[in-house]
Amino acid sequence: MDSYLHRGQRRQLIDELRARGGYDEKVLAVMANVPRHAFLDSSFHGWAYKDEAFRIGCEQTISQPSTVAWQTTELELLPRQHVLEIGTGSGYQAAVLSLLGGRVFTVERHKPLYRKAKLTLKKLRLDRIRLYLRDGSKGLPELAPFDRILATAGAAAVPPALREQLKVGGIMVIPVGPDGEEQSMLKIRRVSETEWTEEELGGCRFVPLVVS
Ligand code: SAH
Repeated sequence: MDSYLHRGQRRQLIDELRARGGYDEKVLAVMANVPRHAFLDSSFHGWAYKDEAFRIGCEQTISQPSTVAWQTTELELLPRQHVLEIGTGSGYQAAVLSLLGGRVFTVERHKPLYRKAKLTLKKLRLDRIRLYLRDGSKGLPELAPFDRILATAGAAAVPPALREQLKVGGIMVIPVGPDGEEQSMLKIRRVSETEWTEEELGGCRFVPLVVS
């Protein structure tokens, strides 16, 4: 599935990200090992290692590599932690989280994307990742609480269910903002049963988190 050419292009992309600074080296090392092209249609394979978002069907996109590196760095994921991802999309971000040692639970609302991601992850032997087809704005109450929660779609406001499903001491990274406008990346820490702190990390643009 991987090739010499793809490995070379990938190394170059990771070197570019490293040169920009600010990303966790462990995250970059994992990204250097994940064949991003395997998550894209073959017509995009030539571009897979550009720092760009691409269409993956159902009007959705795989996030830009720099965005994946940014969100994953801020998530501060540790091995064996339970991490909930909202928005499986292609499955690329889930692969990165899994190879960092996380126990990954990822939720997608589009069946074609869910099925395709499941297949791709299986081919890459990442079958420990648990995929769910449902509305992720409600989280996964039966498996909560989670050490980490990562939303890869932008919400108008932080869904209350996700706040509640974060462990005390846990971290959630989520883009928040009004539909169609630039969003703000929030890093939320649950500091007690009843308190959460929020930090704004900067502007970003994601496809909308659909709340039903
Ligand atoms: N993490 C993905 C990129 C995701 S794009 C990757 O690595 O490729 C955002 C995804 O969130 C889309 O696939 C979209 O369908 C999904 N999404 C949006 N709202 C959702 C919701 N309420 N529940 C589950 N998935 C949702």
